[in-house]
Amino acid sequence: MAHTLAEEENAYVSRVPGEPAEDKAQDCAIKARNLRKVYKASGNQPAKEALKGIDLAIPRGSIFALLGPNGAGKSTFINILAGLVLKTSGSASIWGFDTDVNPRQARASIGVVPQELNIDPFFTPAEVMEMQAGLYGVPKKERRTMEILKAMGLDDKADAYARTLSGGMRRRLLVAKAMVHNPPVLILDEPTAGVDIELRRQLWDYVKGLHARGTTIVLTTHYLEEAEALCDTIAIIDKGEVVACEPKDELLGRISEKKLIVCPSSPATTLPTALDGMKAELRPDGSITVQYNPAETGVMNILGALSAEGMEINDISTEESDLEDVFLQLTSH
Ligand code: ADP
Repeated sequence: MAHTLAEEENAYVSRVPGEPAEDKAQDCAIKARNLRKVYKASGNQPAKEALKGIDLAIPRGSIFALLGPNGAGKSTFINILAGLVLKTSGSASIWGFDTDVNPRQARASIGVVPQELNIDPFFTPAEVMEMQAGLYGVPKKERRTMEILKAMGLDDKADAYARTLSGGMRRRLLVAKAMVHNPPVLILDEPTAGVDIELRRQLWDYVKGLHARGTTIVLTTHYLEEAEALCDTIAIIDKGEVVACEPKDELLGRISEKKLIVCPSSPATTLPTALDGMKAELRPDGSITVQYNPAETGVMNILGALSAEGMEINDISTEESDLEDVFLQLTSH
């Protein structure tokens, strides 16, 4: 006989969103220590180390982006947290619950919104929600089907067949479904992959609404724009390693750097010593680029130093660097 998740694990833990777990020393929504995952070799596929010892602390109450190119290890990380993939070594905790020591509470503390829109077309949103609540063992009197559907803008579709819902509505239904057991942490795996710009913004608004009501949000994305628009903290993951993790504003501060392009009258063959210690590069056409922070260095200082060294300058221009530049710089490809 098939057992529900609730029968096997009693996965539902009654809790007010945002209320801390017993372990008050833990102020993280999610914490990973030296988390490794090696997928075993199979067939002609060699073994793959998808996570190379991830250390990550995701604060409670944040909207956190896990940003990285395809194959970086984002889904592996999320699937370990969701209990869908077994870690090779290291530890992870969710809302203070270690996934090895308290797997039931750890699992009850997150809702995961998958990438695929896999919803049975013959059920209505209300039925989908009720079934999920049953699966998690949420007592009838604690179910909030209509409240959640309303928060996701689906209350007027509660009794419509899922097959009549648009792509955006289905995606919102998946978010609603993941919220059924009232988890303090919601994980969205590439929430807007393949979604058009208008829907993307709409979905962002719903996610912001959930966050405003106390849910910690973690999302994976390879859209820099999404991380920038939605998140307060950004971790960049590449080839199974965390290459940056900082508040968005700090990361954006780093990209307030500008690029000055100097074209000398006769093409340069070496970098002038005046630029020693600066982020300068000689281009194949004999022009020179200098990355500088306008708050610290003025263009005139750079040009003055070059003139003092005897360089005649034919033309100059500047370029803004953007998150893409920082991303490329950090992931070095
Ligand atoms: P992302 O979500 O950032 O795109 P993934 O976590 O899906 O990255 O994948 C990380 C790496 O692990 C990739 O090289 C991928 O090919 C590999 N990988 C993912 N799942 C499996 C699996 N089930 N078996 C073997 N290798 C896998």
